[in-house]
Amino acid sequence: MTYPKIDLLPGQDRRLRAGHPWVFSNEIKMEPATKALPPGSLVTLTDANRRPLGLAHFNPHSLIAARVLTRNKDAVIDAGFLERRLARALRLRERLYDRPFYRLVHAEADGLPGLVVDRFGDLLVVQVNTAGMATLTEPVLAALDRLLHPRAIVLRNDSPVRELEGLPSEVRIARGDVAGPVAIEEHGQTFLIDPLEGQKTGWYHDQRDNRAFVARLADGQRVLDLYSYGAGFGLTALAGGASGVLAIDRSAAGLDLARASAEANGLADRLETRRQDAFAALDELAAAKARFGVVIADPPAFVRSKKELKAGLAGYRKLARATGQLVKEEGVLAIACCSHNVAADEFAQEVRRGLKDASRGGRILRQAGAGPDHPLHPALPESAYLKCLVYVLD
Ligand code: SAH
Repeated sequence: MTYPKIDLLPGQDRRLRAGHPWVFSNEIKMEPATKALPPGSLVTLTDANRRPLGLAHFNPHSLIAARVLTRNKDAVIDAGFLERRLARALRLRERLYDRPFYRLVHAEADGLPGLVVDRFGDLLVVQVNTAGMATLTEPVLAALDRLLHPRAIVLRNDSPVRELEGLPSEVRIARGDVAGPVAIEEHGQTFLIDPLEGQKTGWYHDQRDNRAFVARLADGQRVLDLYSYGAGFGLTALAGGASGVLAIDRSAAGLDLARASAEANGLADRLETRRQDAFAALDELAAAKARFGVVIADPPAFVRSKKELKAGLAGYRKLARATGQLVKEEGVLAIACCSHNVAADEFAQEVRRGLKDASRGGRILRQAGAGPDHPLHPALPESAYLKCLVYVLD
């Protein structure tokens, strides 16, 4: 197989050679023929002396212009290649988990840039986020079929990052049939998710281990699950013996799923849901002098681009102050940040400042990210997007 060659500018191969999987558009010799390549083309990357560096997906219209698929210049990107990468991703998850509920493919970190696959038993939810991976959608689906024989595959191609790649937004059932909420399992409990209309792929697998950790501290406690969505944290805490949970989210659909899951687990009498803006709710709870043994705050990304950094960091500080005030003595605060533009130490600093503003001292019990079904690409620190801090407050 020969693929069109794309030359990097002199010196621009250094990062790639050090293990980084991306080439930015200003690092490439952009000749008319290069610019004319269809978005998503398979290319051979070469250095300024035309020595091959590997095979990549190329998109002339994206800032991240090339994403490396393999360093093997002689590889062929075909059904077999995809199946080997998918099978490797599956073997890892099968070592990690007894039950088939996890992120099966985490993009670059699994050697499949632009591809996310969440597994919910015999249902797969796939997100294709780059023009390159979009050209491979059908072979990827076929390989997933061969490997797992899923009952259904949903394509959730409605992530906003697709716009950067010039891809349209669409959600469709690519295989089989899905109707209404789907029951999944986590920590032995049932959760109802909506793979078609729910947020992202329908479920946040990334917080699984953090939910279990917080639940260990929840026995006998009243819990506030702020930005609860389907109350993954709250219901895990209830199963761990919490006396009651107040789940707050602005999404009515998320809270409906939370209540349905609570019913399914016989926990409905201990769950209260409130559809409200989080900061408005925090003001009200503070005015009412409410106190909780455990407070969880798992907000959406406050920093979605670098230019939002300052305001977003201030937002995390404010959130830490407002939630810290609601934690009773010797109670627990779990606070998370899923902004990939915010580094772990920056987030930790804002939480520290916010708790100081609230005059709360404490100790950090856990600093964690997503679970190991979301592996990190060692050369892409921003792939460690999730930061979760668990404090016990004095
Ligand atoms: N904790 C959840 C995931 C939360 S994702 C879990 O463990 O699965 C972030 C949530 O914040 C989403 O459900 C979204 O609906 C909610 N949200 C976003 N902005 C909000 C706001 N201003 N007030 C309340 N909820 C908000």
